[in-house]
Amino acid sequence: MRSLFLTSPRIRSKARFVAASIALATTAPSISLAQTNPLWTQEKIRNYLPHMTVPEVQDLLTRTDMVIIPVAALEQHGLHLPIGTDYLNGVEQAKLIAQQVDVLVAPILLPGQSPYHMGFEGTITLPSTLVQEVYVEAVKSLLAHGFKRFLILNAHGGNRAITTFIVDRINQETAGIAVDLGAVAGPFRDRGRMASIPLPDGTMLDRHGGTPETSSSLYLMPTLVDLEAARPATITLTPELEAMLPDVLAGDPTALTVFLAEGLKDEATGKGTSSIEMSSTGVWGSRDPREATVERGRISTEVFVDAAVAFIDRWNELRPYRP
Ligand SMILES: [Zn+2]
Repeated sequence: MRSLFLTSPRIRSKARFVAASIALATTAPSISLAQTNPLWTQEKIRNYLPHMTVPEVQDLLTRTDMVIIPVAALEQHGLHLPIGTDYLNGVEQAKLIAQQVDVLVAPILLPGQSPYHMGFEGTITLPSTLVQEVYVEAVKSLLAHGFKRFLILNAHGGNRAITTFIVDRINQETAGIAVDLGAVAGPFRDRGRMASIPLPDGTMLDRHGGTPETSSSLYLMPTLVDLEAARPATITLTPELEAMLPDVLAGDPTALTVFLAEGLKDEATGKGTSSIEMSSTGVWGSRDPREATVERGRISTEVFVDAAVAFIDRWNELRPYRP
């Protein structure tokens, strides 16, 4: 029944008509914005599921079966970035992609796996098994409505293994086909453009909440960055991490792998590497976050968005959508 409905041109055009009527209704002069919620500042975003009506979802299904699902986190991001940084940045990137190519953007969860940030107020962490279960169940709902291909966009380093597992579970256990969007966009990244990003001088530890993430946030959600509040963190690494830091900063990939295997872990593991044990502000880096720039955030965002769009085009070429 469902596929008959979706493939009937008559009903599809009716759906478009309904969508157009809704658009007209929302701009009708009878609604005075002065009399509505004074906090409401959102504009309707195309292909963004929370803003869409049923006819609009039906209409999108005539053009694509792809969904971007950001995998997010709600965790401390130092003195200057909001708790929702990873959620917001992931969703904003996905929305930008969906303005260039037809794909549904479906945020599911705000929190993710962040036990190593629990020393700072506001962090919410969920068990990894629960997080992946929620995303896989959400995918089953979308599959029931005709969506088939899933681009899982990880927006938080602590969700990397969870993201890999979600992708594999969708592919192994459901009719859906999933990829890790960060990974598949890799070959399409404009490396020349990435290299053109003006970086601060000198090599320093500059990770969670540092200048790369602050720059992206300045571009993607400027009103939520309190750059004035930022200051350089005092970093206290364990002697083992301290000893390997020079090799990490010199770009040794093996040193980085073992550094990250041990660093930023739940305080309960006894490793001494949770964020509150290593950082005075919550930022995992010695560089002043105030060295971040909008320009750096703009270029890195555009490179990723363009690469994601190029991947989606290529996937549609390799496997054309037939509604
Ligand atoms: Zn983050």
